Amino acid sequence: MEFLQVWHTAPWSDVQAWRWLARVFTGNVVQEALFYGAAASLIGVLLHGVLRRRLARRLIGQWPTAADVRREMTYSLSTLLVFAAVGVAVVAAVVTGRAEVYVQVQPYGWTWLVLSFVLMLLWHDLYFYVTHRLLHTRWWFRRVHGVHHRSRHPSPWAAYAFHPLEALINAMVVPLALVVIPLHVGVLLAFTAHQVLRNAHGHAAVETMPAGFSHHRLWGHFTTTTHHHMHHETAKGNYGLWFTWWDRWMGTEIAQYRQRFDEVTGSATP
Ligand SMILES: [Zn+2]
Ligand SMILES: [Zn+2]
Repeated sequence: MEFLQVWHTAPWSDVQAWRWLARVFTGNVVQEALFYGAAASLIGVLLHGVLRRRLARRLIGQWPTAADVRREMTYSLSTLLVFAAVGVAVVAAVVTGRAEVYVQVQPYGWTWLVLSFVLMLLWHDLYFYVTHRLLHTRWWFRRVHGVHHRSRHPSPWAAYAFHPLEALINAMVVPLALVVIPLHVGVLLAFTAHQVLRNAHGHAAVETMPAGFSHHRLWGHFTTTTHHHMHHETAKGNYGLWFTWWDRWMGTEIAQYRQRFDEVTGSATP
């Protein structure tokens, strides 16, 4: 990375350093906004616009109102700023040698590249489950997590509709990983793309997965929009992010989840 050498060799003045940080921050905001804006708009326009009529029978609860979407977009903007700020800290850690984000495949090879992506998904899933349970304790729910739960029937824009403190907690998943492991820049991009797409999809209010998905031996381990929608309806149970196993292991899966999934997808036995 070019700026790595620049950071170490150039005699930085305070003004230059602040300018550099401001540029990195602005770049992060643009990048985060593009990723998130593209994912939420794509899923919103497709599922709530183009396919709205066709998917009406797969509506899990209700369509979100325009007021819901406006509020979710506003909070999403503040989340983008928090994510971008944490991104600046990550870049600063990388250029000063405290964390390693590498560009070439070679130093660690393809096996680590693929494995690190899988590890990041598992780590994110665990980190989210634990912090989400904490956010559902009385103090945190009243002051912080309640913001996300104002959406009882969320839209894809609820994916980033967080109190700034919750945004900060969520943003720490990557820096905490970088304390322990090196990550390829492509893995970070894939991680972000997967995260925004599945997050927006999980708040889509309509179930798009095929009938039988939640019972399947393999696919049944993946969370669905119904899974997370029920969490928004009740604010109790179904705390998981990407996989259903933490809720099953910890006994927090909502008992009616699979039945509700069957009803929504039209495969419930009468
Ligand atoms: Zn949610
Ligand atoms: Zn919650």
